[in-house]
Amino acid sequence: MVDLKSQYEKIKTEVDKGIQEVIDSCAFINGPAVRDFQSDLEKYLNVKHVIPCANGTDALQVAMMAMGLKPGDEVITVSFTFIATAEVIALLGFTPVLVDVEPDTFNISIDSLRKAITPKTKAIVPVHLFGQCANMEEIMEIAKEKNLYVIEDACQAIGAEYIFKDGSRKKAGTIGHIGCTSFFPSKNLGCYGDGGAIFTNDDELAKQMRVVVNHGMVVRYYHDYIGVNSRLDSIQAAVLKVKLQYLDEYAKARNYAASYYNKAFENHPKIKTPVTAPYSTHVFHQYTLVLTDVDRNELQSYLASKEIPAMIYYPVPLHMQKAYIDPRYKEGDFPVTEMLCSSVISLPMHTELDDEQLKYITNSVLEFINR
Ligand SMILES: *Cc1c(COP(=O)(O)O)cnc(C)c1O
Repeated sequence: MVDLKSQYEKIKTEVDKGIQEVIDSCAFINGPAVRDFQSDLEKYLNVKHVIPCANGTDALQVAMMAMGLKPGDEVITVSFTFIATAEVIALLGFTPVLVDVEPDTFNISIDSLRKAITPKTKAIVPVHLFGQCANMEEIMEIAKEKNLYVIEDACQAIGAEYIFKDGSRKKAGTIGHIGCTSFFPSKNLGCYGDGGAIFTNDDELAKQMRVVVNHGMVVRYYHDYIGVNSRLDSIQAAVLKVKLQYLDEYAKARNYAASYYNKAFENHPKIKTPVTAPYSTHVFHQYTLVLTDVDRNELQSYLASKEIPAMIYYPVPLHMQKAYIDPRYKEGDFPVTEMLCSSVISLPMHTELDDEQLKYITNSVLEFINR
Protein backbone atom coordinates (compact mmCIF):
# COMPACT_ATOMS: atom_id res chain seq x y z
CA MET A 1 0.00 0.00 0.00
CA VAL A 2 2.91 2.33 0.69
CA ASP A 3 6.50 2.41 -0.56
CA LEU A 4 8.50 3.87 2.29
CA LYS A 5 11.73 2.36 1.02
CA SER A 6 11.86 4.31 -2.27
CA GLN A 7 10.79 7.45 -0.45
CA TYR A 8 13.62 7.02 2.06
CA GLU A 9 16.23 6.45 -0.69
CA LYS A 10 15.54 9.98 -1.99
CA ILE A 11 16.08 11.69 1.38
CA LYS A 12 18.56 9.24 2.88
CA THR A 13 21.48 11.67 3.21
CA GLU A 14 19.43 14.28 5.10
CA VAL A 15 17.60 11.76 7.29
CA ASP A 16 20.75 9.83 8.20
CA LYS A 17 22.51 13.07 9.10
CA GLY A 18 19.62 14.15 11.35
CA ILE A 19 19.50 10.79 13.13
CA GLN A 20 23.30 10.73 13.56
CA GLU A 21 23.24 14.21 15.11
CA VAL A 22 20.77 13.05 17.75
CA ILE A 23 22.92 10.00 18.54
CA ASP A 24 26.06 12.16 18.75
CA SER A 25 24.31 14.61 21.09
CA CYS A 26 22.76 11.83 23.22
CA ALA A 27 19.78 14.17 23.71
CA PHE A 28 17.34 11.36 23.07
CA ILE A 29 14.42 12.78 25.07
CA ASN A 30 13.15 16.36 24.62
CA GLY A 31 16.33 17.27 22.76
CA PRO A 32 16.78 20.27 20.43
CA ALA A 33 15.51 18.15 17.50
CA VAL A 34 12.07 18.02 19.14
CA ARG A 35 11.95 21.80 19.69
CA ASP A 36 13.16 22.44 16.12
CA PHE A 37 10.51 20.20 14.62
CA GLN A 38 7.85 21.68 16.88
CA SER A 39 8.58 25.21 15.73
CA ASP A 40 8.83 24.16 12.05
CA LEU A 41 5.43 22.50 12.32
CA GLU A 42 3.92 25.55 14.07
CA LYS A 43 5.08 27.69 11.12
CA TYR A 44 3.89 25.21 8.51
CA LEU A 45 0.43 24.94 10.09
CA ASN A 46 0.28 28.59 11.06
CA VAL A 47 -0.82 27.59 14.55
CA LYS A 48 0.31 29.01 17.91
CA HIS A 49 1.07 25.76 19.72
CA VAL A 50 2.21 22.32 18.62
CA ILE A 51 2.60 19.78 21.42
CA PRO A 52 4.49 16.71 20.24
CA CYS A 53 3.47 13.39 21.81
CA ALA A 54 3.96 9.65 21.43
CA ASN A 55 1.25 8.77 18.87
CA GLY A 56 -2.05 9.88 17.39
CA THR A 57 -4.15 7.98 19.91
CA ASP A 58 -2.35 9.75 22.77
CA ALA A 59 -2.89 13.07 21.00
CA LEU A 60 -6.66 12.43 21.07
CA GLN A 61 -6.56 11.22 24.66
CA VAL A 62 -4.56 14.20 25.92
CA ALA A 63 -6.92 16.56 24.08
CA MET A 64 -9.88 14.88 25.80
CA MET A 65 -8.15 15.09 29.19
CA ALA A 66 -7.54 18.81 28.84
CA MET A 67 -11.17 19.82 28.46
CA GLY A 68 -12.25 19.14 32.04
CA LEU A 69 -15.08 16.76 31.13
CA LYS A 70 -16.82 14.56 33.69
CA PRO A 71 -17.69 10.86 33.44
CA GLY A 72 -20.91 10.46 31.48
CA ASP A 73 -20.39 13.61 29.42
CA GLU A 74 -21.19 12.90 25.79
CA VAL A 75 -18.68 13.22 22.98
CA ILE A 76 -19.93 12.92 19.41
CA THR A 77 -17.92 11.23 16.67
CA VAL A 78 -18.54 9.16 13.55
CA SER A 79 -19.15 5.42 13.27
CA PHE A 80 -17.00 5.29 10.10
CA THR A 81 -13.43 5.80 11.35
CA PHE A 82 -10.43 4.08 12.87
CA ILE A 83 -11.20 2.80 16.36
CA ALA A 84 -8.79 5.16 18.18
CA THR A 85 -11.23 8.07 17.90
CA ALA A 86 -13.94 6.39 19.99
CA GLU A 87 -11.53 4.32 22.09
CA VAL A 88 -10.12 7.28 24.02
CA ILE A 89 -13.60 8.66 24.69
CA ALA A 90 -14.66 5.33 26.22
CA LEU A 91 -11.36 4.86 28.10
CA LEU A 92 -11.78 8.18 29.90
CA GLY A 93 -15.29 7.26 31.02
CA PHE A 94 -17.03 9.68 28.68
CA THR A 95 -19.90 8.45 26.51
CA PRO A 96 -19.13 8.10 22.80
CA VAL A 97 -22.15 9.17 20.76
CA LEU A 98 -21.92 7.93 17.19
CA VAL A 99 -23.29 9.58 14.07
CA ASP A 100 -23.43 8.77 10.35
CA VAL A 101 -21.29 10.17 7.52
CA GLU A 102 -21.98 11.75 4.13
CA PRO A 103 -21.99 9.29 1.19
CA ASP A 104 -19.77 11.52 -1.00
CA THR A 105 -17.03 12.71 1.35
CA PHE A 106 -17.21 9.90 3.96
CA ASN A 107 -17.04 12.65 6.60
CA ILE A 108 -19.44 13.55 9.43
CA SER A 109 -23.02 14.21 8.38
CA ILE A 110 -24.13 17.61 9.64
CA ASP A 111 -27.77 16.45 9.85
CA SER A 112 -26.84 13.43 11.99
CA LEU A 113 -24.64 15.63 14.14
CA ARG A 114 -27.44 18.11 14.85
CA LYS A 115 -29.81 15.29 15.80
CA ALA A 116 -27.30 13.71 18.20
CA ILE A 117 -26.79 16.76 20.41
CA THR A 118 -28.30 16.51 23.91
CA PRO A 119 -27.87 18.63 27.06
CA LYS A 120 -25.04 16.21 28.04
CA THR A 121 -23.03 16.80 24.85
CA LYS A 122 -19.70 18.46 25.57
CA ALA A 123 -17.56 17.92 22.48
CA ILE A 124 -17.54 16.97 18.81
CA VAL A 125 -14.70 14.99 17.21
CA PRO A 126 -14.89 15.32 13.43
CA VAL A 127 -12.51 12.99 11.59
CA HIS A 128 -10.91 14.29 8.39
CA LEU A 129 -11.11 10.85 6.83
CA PHE A 130 -8.81 9.66 4.04
CA GLY A 131 -7.23 13.12 3.64
CA GLN A 132 -9.95 15.74 3.26
CA CYS A 133 -11.52 18.03 5.82
CA ALA A 134 -14.96 17.57 7.28
CA ASN A 135 -17.38 20.48 6.91
CA MET A 136 -15.67 22.60 9.61
CA GLU A 137 -17.52 25.86 9.02
CA GLU A 138 -20.88 24.21 9.80
CA ILE A 139 -19.40 22.23 12.68
CA MET A 140 -17.90 25.34 14.29
CA GLU A 141 -21.21 27.17 13.92
CA ILE A 142 -23.05 24.36 15.72
CA ALA A 143 -20.33 24.20 18.38
CA LYS A 144 -20.56 27.93 19.03
CA GLU A 145 -24.34 27.85 19.25
CA LYS A 146 -24.30 24.87 21.67
CA ASN A 147 -21.09 25.80 23.51
CA LEU A 148 -19.17 22.62 22.61
CA TYR A 149 -15.50 21.82 22.18
CA VAL A 150 -14.30 20.68 18.76
CA ILE A 151 -11.35 18.29 18.56
CA GLU A 152 -10.29 17.58 14.99
CA ASP A 153 -8.95 14.11 14.30
CA ALA A 154 -6.50 15.14 11.58
CA CYS A 155 -4.48 11.91 11.77
CA GLN A 156 -5.13 11.25 8.06
CA ALA A 157 -5.18 14.83 6.81
CA ILE A 158 -2.05 16.70 7.81
CA GLY A 159 -1.37 19.36 5.19
CA ALA A 160 -4.94 19.45 3.83
CA GLU A 161 -6.52 22.90 3.72
CA TYR A 162 -10.02 23.94 4.67
CA ILE A 163 -11.43 26.57 2.31
CA PHE A 164 -13.84 28.98 4.03
CA LYS A 165 -16.79 30.61 2.25
CA ASP A 166 -14.86 33.89 2.13
CA GLY A 167 -12.01 32.12 0.32
CA SER A 168 -9.58 32.12 3.25
CA ARG A 169 -7.82 28.87 4.13
CA LYS A 170 -6.66 27.09 7.25
CA LYS A 171 -4.75 23.86 7.67
CA ALA A 172 -6.60 20.75 8.88
CA GLY A 173 -6.40 20.53 12.66
CA THR A 174 -6.11 24.28 13.27
CA ILE A 175 -9.78 25.26 12.99
CA GLY A 176 -11.35 23.62 16.05
CA HIS A 177 -10.23 24.15 19.65
CA ILE A 178 -7.71 21.32 19.34
CA GLY A 179 -6.33 19.30 16.41
CA CYS A 180 -4.65 15.90 16.63
CA THR A 181 -2.35 14.08 14.26
CA SER A 182 -0.33 10.88 13.97
CA PHE A 183 3.15 10.33 12.57
CA PHE A 184 2.69 6.56 12.20
CA PRO A 185 5.04 5.51 9.35
CA SER A 186 2.30 5.10 6.73
CA LYS A 187 0.56 8.41 7.54
CA ASN A 188 1.11 11.36 5.16
CA LEU A 189 3.81 12.73 7.45
CA GLY A 190 5.21 9.52 8.88
CA CYS A 191 8.25 9.00 11.07
CA TYR A 192 10.27 5.80 11.49
CA GLY A 193 8.42 4.55 14.54
CA ASP A 194 5.54 6.05 16.53
CA GLY A 195 4.79 9.74 16.92
CA GLY A 196 1.98 12.24 17.19
CA ALA A 197 1.15 15.88 17.87
CA ILE A 198 -1.58 18.13 19.19
CA PHE A 199 -2.29 21.62 17.79
CA THR A 200 -4.10 24.57 19.34
CA ASN A 201 -4.32 28.35 19.15
CA ASP A 202 -5.63 28.49 22.73
CA ASP A 203 -2.88 29.41 25.25
CA GLU A 204 -4.72 27.93 28.24
CA LEU A 205 -5.45 24.58 26.54
CA ALA A 206 -1.83 24.44 25.33
CA LYS A 207 -0.53 25.01 28.85
CA GLN A 208 -2.84 22.34 30.23
CA MET A 209 -1.91 19.78 27.55
CA ARG A 210 1.85 20.35 28.04
CA VAL A 211 1.27 19.48 31.70
CA VAL A 212 -0.90 16.43 30.88
CA VAL A 213 1.69 14.87 28.52
CA ASN A 214 4.29 15.23 31.28
CA HIS A 215 2.68 13.32 34.19
CA GLY A 216 0.49 16.27 35.20
CA MET A 217 3.62 17.97 36.47
CA VAL A 218 3.53 21.77 36.84
CA VAL A 219 6.72 22.24 38.87
CA ARG A 220 9.26 19.41 38.80
CA TYR A 221 7.98 16.56 41.02
CA TYR A 222 4.82 18.47 41.95
CA HIS A 223 1.87 16.79 40.24
CA ASP A 224 -1.26 18.92 40.15
CA TYR A 225 -3.15 16.66 37.77
CA ILE A 226 -3.26 13.01 36.80
CA GLY A 227 -1.38 12.98 33.53
CA VAL A 228 0.27 10.54 31.15
CA ASN A 229 3.77 10.00 29.80
CA SER A 230 3.60 10.84 26.13
CA ARG A 231 6.67 12.13 24.29
CA LEU A 232 7.93 12.29 20.72
CA ASP A 233 11.51 11.06 20.88
CA SER A 234 14.34 13.10 19.39
CA ILE A 235 15.25 10.60 16.67
CA GLN A 236 11.68 10.64 15.34
CA ALA A 237 11.65 14.45 15.49
CA ALA A 238 14.85 14.55 13.41
CA VAL A 239 13.23 12.35 10.74
CA LEU A 240 10.04 14.45 10.78
CA LYS A 241 11.97 17.72 10.47
CA VAL A 242 13.39 16.48 7.16
CA LYS A 243 10.13 15.00 5.88
CA LEU A 244 8.05 18.08 6.75
CA GLN A 245 9.99 19.99 4.08
CA TYR A 246 8.62 17.55 1.49
CA LEU A 247 5.06 17.26 2.78
CA ASP A 248 3.52 19.50 0.10
CA GLU A 249 5.50 17.74 -2.61
CA TYR A 250 4.27 14.41 -1.24
CA ALA A 251 0.67 15.67 -1.37
CA LYS A 252 1.20 16.60 -5.05
CA ALA A 253 2.46 13.10 -5.85
CA ARG A 254 -0.58 11.61 -4.09
CA ASN A 255 -2.90 13.92 -6.03
CA TYR A 256 -1.21 12.91 -9.29
CA ALA A 257 -1.88 9.24 -8.54
CA ALA A 258 -5.48 10.05 -7.56
CA SER A 259 -6.10 11.90 -10.86
CA TYR A 260 -4.67 8.97 -12.79
CA TYR A 261 -7.02 6.60 -10.98
CA ASN A 262 -9.98 8.99 -11.41
CA LYS A 263 -9.44 9.21 -15.14
CA ALA A 264 -9.10 5.44 -15.57
CA PHE A 265 -12.36 4.76 -13.71
CA GLU A 266 -14.28 7.81 -14.96
CA ASN A 267 -18.00 7.16 -15.63
CA HIS A 268 -17.70 3.45 -14.93
CA PRO A 269 -21.19 2.27 -13.90
CA LYS A 270 -19.86 0.06 -11.09
CA ILE A 271 -17.15 2.34 -9.72
CA LYS A 272 -17.60 5.54 -7.76
CA THR A 273 -14.35 7.49 -7.49
CA PRO A 274 -13.60 9.76 -4.49
CA VAL A 275 -15.43 13.10 -4.31
CA THR A 276 -13.56 16.15 -3.03
CA ALA A 277 -15.75 18.66 -1.19
CA PRO A 278 -15.67 22.27 -2.45
CA TYR A 279 -14.53 23.38 1.02
CA SER A 280 -11.38 21.26 1.24
CA THR A 281 -8.23 20.26 -0.56
CA HIS A 282 -7.45 16.55 -0.54
CA VAL A 283 -4.14 14.99 0.48
CA PHE A 284 -5.29 11.42 -0.34
CA HIS A 285 -4.14 9.51 2.69
CA GLN A 286 -6.24 6.81 1.05
CA TYR A 287 -7.71 6.48 -2.43
CA THR A 288 -11.02 4.75 -1.79
CA LEU A 289 -13.55 3.47 -4.33
CA VAL A 290 -17.20 2.65 -3.66
CA LEU A 291 -18.23 -0.38 -5.72
CA THR A 292 -21.67 -1.59 -6.80
CA ASP A 293 -22.32 -5.11 -8.07
CA VAL A 294 -18.71 -6.11 -7.54
CA ASP A 295 -17.53 -8.71 -5.03
CA ARG A 296 -14.88 -6.54 -3.47
CA ASN A 297 -13.33 -9.41 -1.49
CA GLU A 298 -12.84 -11.31 -4.73
CA LEU A 299 -11.42 -8.18 -6.31
CA GLN A 300 -9.01 -7.89 -3.39
CA SER A 301 -7.88 -11.52 -3.85
CA TYR A 302 -7.56 -11.05 -7.61
CA LEU A 303 -5.37 -7.97 -7.09
CA ALA A 304 -3.33 -9.83 -4.47
CA SER A 305 -2.70 -12.59 -7.01
CA LYS A 306 -1.19 -9.90 -9.24
CA GLU A 307 0.87 -8.58 -6.32
CA ILE A 308 -1.25 -5.47 -5.93
CA PRO A 309 -2.17 -4.76 -2.32
CA ALA A 310 -5.67 -3.36 -1.71
CA MET A 311 -7.25 -2.77 1.68
CA ILE A 312 -10.72 -2.44 3.18
CA TYR A 313 -10.90 0.71 5.33
CA TYR A 314 -13.05 -0.03 7.30
CA PRO A 315 -14.86 -3.37 7.18
CA VAL A 316 -16.85 -2.97 10.41
CA PRO A 317 -18.53 0.23 11.67
CA LEU A 318 -17.73 1.22 15.25
CA HIS A 319 -21.27 0.51 16.46
CA MET A 320 -20.92 -3.10 15.25
CA GLN A 321 -17.51 -3.71 16.87
CA LYS A 322 -17.67 -6.34 19.61
CA ALA A 323 -16.11 -4.17 22.30
CA TYR A 324 -18.45 -1.28 21.48
CA ILE A 325 -21.77 -3.12 21.21
CA ASP A 326 -24.20 -0.86 22.99
CA PRO A 327 -27.98 -1.16 23.48
CA ARG A 328 -28.30 2.40 22.15
CA TYR A 329 -27.26 1.20 18.67
CA LYS A 330 -28.25 -1.59 16.30
CA GLU A 331 -27.55 -2.65 12.74
CA GLY A 332 -29.28 -0.27 10.35
CA ASP A 333 -28.84 2.84 12.52
CA PHE A 334 -26.16 4.36 10.28
CA PRO A 335 -27.11 3.37 6.73
CA VAL A 336 -24.38 5.32 4.93
CA THR A 337 -21.63 4.00 7.19
CA GLU A 338 -22.93 0.45 6.83
CA MET A 339 -23.20 0.78 3.03
CA LEU A 340 -19.60 2.07 2.89
CA CYS A 341 -18.26 -0.68 5.16
CA SER A 342 -19.65 -3.28 2.77
CA SER A 343 -18.64 -1.65 -0.52
CA VAL A 344 -15.37 0.32 -0.23
CA ILE A 345 -11.90 -0.71 -1.29
CA SER A 346 -8.70 1.34 -1.10
CA LEU A 347 -6.02 1.06 -3.77
CA PRO A 348 -2.27 1.56 -3.27
CA MET A 349 -1.63 5.23 -2.48
CA HIS A 350 1.75 6.73 -1.72
CA THR A 351 4.34 9.20 -2.92
CA GLU A 352 6.28 6.88 -5.22
CA LEU A 353 3.64 5.56 -7.64
CA ASP A 354 4.72 5.97 -11.28
CA ASP A 355 2.69 5.76 -14.50
CA GLU A 356 3.72 2.18 -15.15
CA GLN A 357 2.49 1.04 -11.74
CA LEU A 358 -0.68 3.11 -11.99
CA LYS A 359 -1.43 1.64 -15.41
CA TYR A 360 -0.86 -1.90 -14.14
CA ILE A 361 -3.12 -1.31 -11.12
CA THR A 362 -5.97 0.37 -13.03
CA ASN A 363 -5.85 -2.23 -15.85
CA SER A 364 -5.99 -5.03 -13.31
CA VAL A 365 -8.97 -3.50 -11.48
CA LEU A 366 -10.84 -3.00 -14.77
CA GLU A 367 -9.94 -6.48 -16.02
CA PHE A 368 -11.64 -7.97 -12.97
CA ILE A 369 -14.67 -5.70 -12.96
CA ASN A 370 -15.33 -5.88 -16.73
CA ARG A 371 -14.84 -9.60 -17.15
C1 LIG B 1 -3.89 6.58 12.62
C2 LIG B 1 -5.10 7.14 13.21
C3 LIG B 1 -5.21 7.36 14.59
C4 LIG B 1 -4.21 6.88 15.61
O1 LIG B 1 -2.89 7.19 15.37
P1 LIG B 1 -1.72 6.29 16.06
O2 LIG B 1 -0.51 7.13 15.87
O3 LIG B 1 -1.67 5.00 15.33
O4 LIG B 1 -2.07 6.13 17.49
C5 LIG B 1 -6.36 7.99 15.06
N1 LIG B 1 -7.34 8.36 14.22
C6 LIG B 1 -7.28 8.14 12.90
C7 LIG B 1 -8.40 8.61 12.03
C8 LIG B 1 -6.17 7.51 12.34
O5 LIG B 1 -6.12 7.29 11.03
